[in-house]
Order: sequence, then C-alpha cells, then structure tokens
Amino acid sequence: MFNNTDKRYNQYSAHLKNKFGVKIYKITLDAGFSCPNRDGTISKGGCIFCDDGGSFSQAHSNLLSIEEQVNIGAEKLKTRFKAQKFMSYFQAFSNTYKPVNELEKIYNSALKHPDIVGISIGTRPDCIDKKKIKLISSFKDDYYTWIEYGLQSIHDKTLKKINRGHDFDCFLKAYEKTKEAGINVCVHVIFGLWETHDEIMQTAKKLAQLGIDGVKIHMLCALEETKLAQIYKEGGIKFMDEDEYVNTVCDFLEYLPQTVTIHRLAGNGLSSELIAPQWLGKKFDCLNKIDREFIKRNSYQGSKFVYK
Ligand code: SF4
Repeated sequence: MFNNTDKRYNQYSAHLKNKFGVKIYKITLDAGFSCPNRDGTISKGGCIFCDDGGSFSQAHSNLLSIEEQVNIGAEKLKTRFKAQKFMSYFQAFSNTYKPVNELEKIYNSALKHPDIVGISIGTRPDCIDKKKIKLISSFKDDYYTWIEYGLQSIHDKTLKKINRGHDFDCFLKAYEKTKEAGINVCVHVIFGLWETHDEIMQTAKKLAQLGIDGVKIHMLCALEETKLAQIYKEGGIKFMDEDEYVNTVCDFLEYLPQTVTIHRLAGNGLSSELIAPQWLGKKFDCLNKIDREFIKRNSYQGSKFVYK
C-alpha cells in the first residue's frame, strides 16, 4: 500500500529505500552533547523518563572522533548487511546544544564519508536559533536533511508534568523557522503520559494540521535510574498494556496524512534497563500486532485525515 510494502503506514525505512534505490542504514553518532534540561541551565532533573544515555538513545559514549565513528559504523554495516548508503544520525541528548561554529565542524565531519546520503539531528525546540537552522539548511541541497524535535505532547500540562522545560509554543516557533528553511521535521511523541485517549488524538490532529514530515512514536517506559522509575515503584503511574498501545498507535496514524513518514512505532534496544512495561522488550511482536490491527480494521494511515 505504501512504498511497495505490505505496511498500512508510510514506513520511513521503505520511504528511504524508495528514494535512494537501496536500503539506507543509520549510523548513530555521539558528539558528546549535553542537554540544558539536565546540566542546570533549565533544570538539573531532566525529563522524568530520561536516563544517562539521553533518553531512548542507542549512541554510545566513546572517545572516537565523529569521522572515526562514521567510518567504523559504515564498515560494520557493510560487513554485516552488505549496506551501501548511510545517514548520519545524532540521537543522544540535544544535538544542537553548542555554539554554531562548533556545530559546523561536527556536522561536516559526519558528512565526509562518500556513502553518506543524509543527516538527521535530534534536539529540543529551545536549542535552536536562526544561525543553527541556516547551517543545517546549508546541507539540504546535497544531503537528505532532517531535524528531529522532541515534543512528546502538544499539551502544556503534560510537558510540565514530565519536566520537559519548554512549552508547546516554543515547539511551534522552532518548527515554523525550521520549515521556512526547507528542512524536514520529524516530531517525537510519547504515549502514556497520564493523558486521555482524546488528548493523544488531539496531538495527532494538530501535527497533521501543521504538516509535519515525520513522526516517531514512543511508549512511555520506566528505565533504571530515572525519576519515572521511582514514580512507578511508588505506584504513581500505570502503563498502557500492549493492546491499548497498539490501538492507540492505529488511531493516531489514522489521523495523520499519508505523506507523514513513520520513523518509529516502538522503542528500541532498551531491554537491559527496562523496568516497565515489560512487553516493550519485544518490539517486533508489537509491530506485528499493529499490522494485524490495521488489517482487522481494514484501515490505514490517513483514513481519518480530511484532505482539503
Ligand atoms: S530533552 Fe532529551 S536529553 Fe534532555 S532531559 Fe529531556 S529526554 Fe533527556
């Protein structure tokens, strides 16, 4: 249905394969960024679900330069999967949280390898400004260029509860500037943040209306050594079960236009630190259930989106 796959949603990996003609592998990079919501600039606590790795991150702190990380990552993927093309992915913490001259060196180092076709930069909406956007937009003629903004919810009461350190209006301002510069925007959302089903759908409808390019959906989960783990142990939160999550994902995607690429629908690589919900440790089971739920409903991404 989408990009010659049997998926009922616009899977980002299939979108990339369609665009470049080969499967594109992400190389996750760690440039030693921090986050203003952890280093004391905004707050020292960080978001309540954030662990030492910078929240749902797969990057590993090490002493290698960015160029070395790209070269090693590309060689490993070539050996293991016969990979041919790659995107540089800055995932952990806030990857625009340095002066623009330093960012320029970091990003340029990530683009030197001849098989890199794109760059994706994850950050917070309060860690961006015109100069940084101008720098990132300068890559877009030669590389597929994305900024991923952590938003989590459009509801300020939720952002406050999770100690996000910015409000929805802050996201809107960053989003508008980024889109004006022609950069693709992927928005991260989290389900299970003490919100009603209707409130989660309001986030879907708002993102659809804004015309975002991509979305990454996470299920809220308690990782070791986080504030949320403490809240969970004290009985302060009940997580969605897998069926509720699967239904909520399908409902959410039905409101998004088919042009929105779906970068992720369940967490990744968390099992060693995952406290709850345990079903999240079996990512592929969850993804299969989402596929089956769409078939059962005979629906698909965008089925409830009103095209004007
Ligand atoms: S913005 Fe990201 S890195 Fe910073 S505290 Fe929140 S989850 Fe952690």
